[in-house]
Amino acid sequence: MNTPGPFYLGVDLGSTTAKAVVIDGEGAIVSSSTIAMGAVSRAGMHKAVDAALDGAGITNADLSGTVSTGYGRRLVPGAQRTFTEITCHARGTVAMVPGARLVIDIGGQDSKAITVDDEGLVQEFAMNDRCASGTGRFYEVLSQSIDVPLEELGALALQGSNDLEVSTMCATFAETEIVSLLAQDAPIADIASSVHRAIASRTLALVAQVGRHTPVVLTGGVAQNPAAVEFLARALRTEILVPEHPQISGAYGAALLARDADHRGRPVVDDVAGADQLFPRPRPSEPHSCGSCDGTLTGSGTSSTVDLGLPIRLGG
Ligand code: ADP
Repeated sequence: MNTPGPFYLGVDLGSTTAKAVVIDGEGAIVSSSTIAMGAVSRAGMHKAVDAALDGAGITNADLSGTVSTGYGRRLVPGAQRTFTEITCHARGTVAMVPGARLVIDIGGQDSKAITVDDEGLVQEFAMNDRCASGTGRFYEVLSQSIDVPLEELGALALQGSNDLEVSTMCATFAETEIVSLLAQDAPIADIASSVHRAIASRTLALVAQVGRHTPVVLTGGVAQNPAAVEFLARALRTEILVPEHPQISGAYGAALLARDADHRGRPVVDDVAGADQLFPRPRPSEPHSCGSCDGTLTGSGTSSTVDLGLPIRLGG
């Protein structure tokens, strides 16, 4: 260990990746890790935690606090607290990009739009976690359908024209539609471009729930896709900022919350207490049928209240 403690660990066990971040007493990132899991797994979480601890040159015994978040946050042993992804992404992103007012996080199976104040406290949020439209899953379907690796999808989409009609926004049917476009000999760059445009318009609908505040920061694994950033910027008609490590913002926020609890000497509260009840999600492995879908968002709320009266339609 080169740096003296204290150290804090944040773990974000997402639907597809496990992320772990170790920070020091000043809140600076000492090490981080991201492990692709495919589906929530304890093994993936342990790998991510071990890699982050190794990277920092410390062991569990050196940690002064651990906070977990994400889909599988209850599976993280040793976490003193769990917080919703909304709280953690807001906290982490504002620390990465001071001044951010709107955080859009697009992960493997959900997307969120969160308005935040100076300190990274949540003002309002909207979340889509029932439907793959507008999430990383949709890009994965595109990647598989046109047989282009996820990492190369963005560069390809930026080369295409985006004027093909992509009528469905349901990931279940998207593959059929993409195959049909391929059968009509549409160039794959145009297909990729048109799908990116369609997904961006879905994110625009999410943002409309909380208001188009600026500056806008995009986080989550999808923020590594340059075309996703570009098409979203066009849809929102504003610049989109992307932190250097957009995929670990939730884990970073969790680590900062562990540090806050230690330093402030008073309980740190979740901005969106009750969100667990609001978003009781199906496990990724469970089949989820949604009938005919209009893409209605699944839930939204504010920092102090979770408004169950807002449209929460599960399925179609
Ligand atoms: P979660 O926290 O829900 O597990 P992440 O924030 O880790 O999700 O994002 C996962 C998504 O990020 C994947 O579904 C994929 O679409 C996208 N992604 C991951 N890595 C890359 C990459 N190198 N380039 C483009 N997209 C990526």
